[in-house]
Amino acid sequence: MVMKESMTKKQNLYDNVLIQFNNAAEKMGLDPHIRKILAKTTNEIIVNFPVKMDDGNVQVFTGYRVQHNNTLGPYKGGLRYHQNVDINMIRALASWMTWKTALADIPFGGAKGGIQVDPTKYSQREIERITRRFTYSLGSNIGPEYDIPAPDVNTNAQIMAWILDTYLSGIHPQERNRSVHVVTGKPVASGGSQGREKATAQGVVFCILEWAKRNKFDLNGASYFVQGFGNVGSWAARIMKPLGAKLVGVEDVSGAVYNPNGIDPDDLLEFMSKMGVLTGFPGSKKIDHTQFMSIKADIFIPAALGNQITGETAPGIDVKLVAEGANGPTDPEGDIILQEKGVEVIPDIFANSGGVIVSYFEWLQNKRSEFWDLEDVDTKLRKKIVKTYKNISDIRKQYNTDFRTAANIVSLIRLEKVYKERGIFP
Ligand code: GLU
Repeated sequence: MVMKESMTKKQNLYDNVLIQFNNAAEKMGLDPHIRKILAKTTNEIIVNFPVKMDDGNVQVFTGYRVQHNNTLGPYKGGLRYHQNVDINMIRALASWMTWKTALADIPFGGAKGGIQVDPTKYSQREIERITRRFTYSLGSNIGPEYDIPAPDVNTNAQIMAWILDTYLSGIHPQERNRSVHVVTGKPVASGGSQGREKATAQGVVFCILEWAKRNKFDLNGASYFVQGFGNVGSWAARIMKPLGAKLVGVEDVSGAVYNPNGIDPDDLLEFMSKMGVLTGFPGSKKIDHTQFMSIKADIFIPAALGNQITGETAPGIDVKLVAEGANGPTDPEGDIILQEKGVEVIPDIFANSGGVIVSYFEWLQNKRSEFWDLEDVDTKLRKKIVKTYKNISDIRKQYNTDFRTAANIVSLIRLEKVYKERGIFP
């Protein structure tokens, strides 16, 4: 889905990352040398590339790939197509990927990329040419054992298929069939994994289920609302439905809707596919952004862009739990306010890690020429989430800290261990 301008404040996400990182580093007493290394990205690639538009004009686009760290494995992370993409946003998202993969204990590092483009302004054929030319410009900066892109905001399986095709066309024919893991989140027929499309949302819901179990909270009849009704938001709602949880509010590019009696996610998706907007959904009331952010419910799932729960909006948040489907939806000021209010936050690097975990499963299947069924993927994902929940909870107790800082500490402990074992070259 496409996010609207007003949902994206111009705060620097990378500042937020560094504040969170410093909090965790301070708390755990991270080795100062390793702290210096992890506070910086490793490589930052910026490409300007021309694309011929449908009308024959040429437009030059700016694309990014920031490789934050590959100590634990190949660089890994999505590609975002959005008008607000800039180097600081990509640096932030790349750093979060390093923490996310380390936290999930999968053998990847962290990277992120994207193009500064508003995809709604271009035809599908233009998006294809933009994607292919961007892939060509990245050249050997990506690779199946080096840096592996995936979907993120406004990119999807189709875009991954174009990246795959472009990348494979540029390498030796002997190498092609063993290089399909250059990108994950592919369509299943092109080497994608069962369950990858819904994986991020599935991970969010597994986190919520584990939180509910640990807090003896009954999800049947619980109320929740979702910001963003794209891949993560719409899948989260569809997966919450059979659990008996009631969706009471949704916000996206077209505005926000509210119905205390419940919104059926499947009906809403169908409505959106016909009308292109959320507003006007039968039985629901149109509300503004401030009203949306202060809906009284049990759970809030932000699944859109960064910097949504801030010093401005956090005071109005009226839920027990925030499960961060998006990357960076809560800024450091928002975090403090939520803590003071006693609102639990399952942090992004854990809550939305289902996407990259199933990307890892896809990568493994490609390397082994295997095809796992959906049940297998979901079972393995749930196991990872439950284990990680426990790891974070143990560290949280040990350091007497908040969920986010504890999650960051788990990641940093892993990274610190490997840095210490391997040492710094030369
Ligand atoms: N873009 C997703 C994320 O932020 C998925 C990344 C991936 O699968 O590599 O975690």
